[in-house]
Amino acid sequence: MKRTLALLLLFAAAPAVAQVSPEAHALHERLLTLDSHLDTPVYFSLPGWNPAQRHALETDLSQVDIPRMREGGLDGGFFVIYTDPGERTPEAQRAARDHALARLVTIRETLAAHPDDLALALRADDAARIAASGRRFVYLSMENASPLALDPGLLDFHYRQGLRMLGLVHVQNNEFADSSTDKAGPEWNGLSPAGRDLIARANRLGLMIDLSHASDAAFDQALEASRTPIVLSHTSAKALYDHPRNLDDARIRALAEKGGVIQVNAYPGYLADEHKSPERQAAIDAATGPFWDGSADSAEKRQALADAYFKAQRDFPVPRTTLDDFMRHLLHIIEVAGPEHVGLGADFDGAGGLASVGLEDVTALPRITERLLAEGFSESQIAGFWGGNLLRVMRQVEAARE
Ligand SMILES: [Zn+2]
Repeated sequence: MKRTLALLLLFAAAPAVAQVSPEAHALHERLLTLDSHLDTPVYFSLPGWNPAQRHALETDLSQVDIPRMREGGLDGGFFVIYTDPGERTPEAQRAARDHALARLVTIRETLAAHPDDLALALRADDAARIAASGRRFVYLSMENASPLALDPGLLDFHYRQGLRMLGLVHVQNNEFADSSTDKAGPEWNGLSPAGRDLIARANRLGLMIDLSHASDAAFDQALEASRTPIVLSHTSAKALYDHPRNLDDARIRALAEKGGVIQVNAYPGYLADEHKSPERQAAIDAATGPFWDGSADSAEKRQALADAYFKAQRDFPVPRTTLDDFMRHLLHIIEVAGPEHVGLGADFDGAGGLASVGLEDVTALPRITERLLAEGFSESQIAGFWGGNLLRVMRQVEAARE
């Protein structure tokens, strides 16, 4: 009796989950689902932020936590050890190294604190095993390899601690590769010698190489240099929106021909022109920056920042991107790459709360399954998009480990 009442109360308190057809809901629940780029460890580092509690975009701009993963039928994904691009002085390189190690420890501590809900995944087969146990699987990835600049051998240590995907570069050129968005333009004309060495080391260890954010030349060279297929963990289509961060059709085809996968990004600024004004950008940055530098260190501060963020949205209104924009990129990339070479990496928690209408957080994910069903894709194809394709690449990379 007591239990029934508690369940009823739980039900009554549950917020609205994405409304989809019963068929889409059942399929989505049946599939193994992963997102290849979750920036949620940024939140793990904020004092008092508990992933076992349900949060909301409106209260702290977050998009992922355990309750919402459950509601959105997201079984797991790649959780990112992200490091801001910075100087290349030895001091800055040491700081980057220490930041990544601290972030790694934070993620491992978070897993240790929630053993009934989260589990570290090390091999491709672990995803299904962990999901079947009712927990969410957590793979580790790195975005921006600068923490390895002082000592690339540290990659071996990160691998032993669970790292399985390595993103070479972020929004600025670094020690290893040119970025697609560095205002100064190319520095290495692609990969640096250290970048080539790092790819060889990752191949030997059995780590997937992630080229999201890399310049076109770095992409071309890494595609040649890597012994194993390449991953783009969160990238959209240049044919639909001409942004340097997006990939053109010829390169999408080349990636697929080599067996790789492109995981489509939902970041609004890469889906369509955001009509940014400097005033709008400054207001948004002021509201989101403290989440990234760790100064959003109390629930009250996070609520105030979220309020400031939504005020900036009202003060400087722009046309919002929608689930339709995301689906256009996804369907185009499926058409170009072929359905076996596409997945999803929506950049949740990576955009400081920026979200497309209809894709506000992970609870919206069943809508994507519903759209894919309506497009006529088979269950096995949709299973491929939701993780099967990426896990296939991971198996190849594991097999090539020396
Ligand atoms: Zn990114």
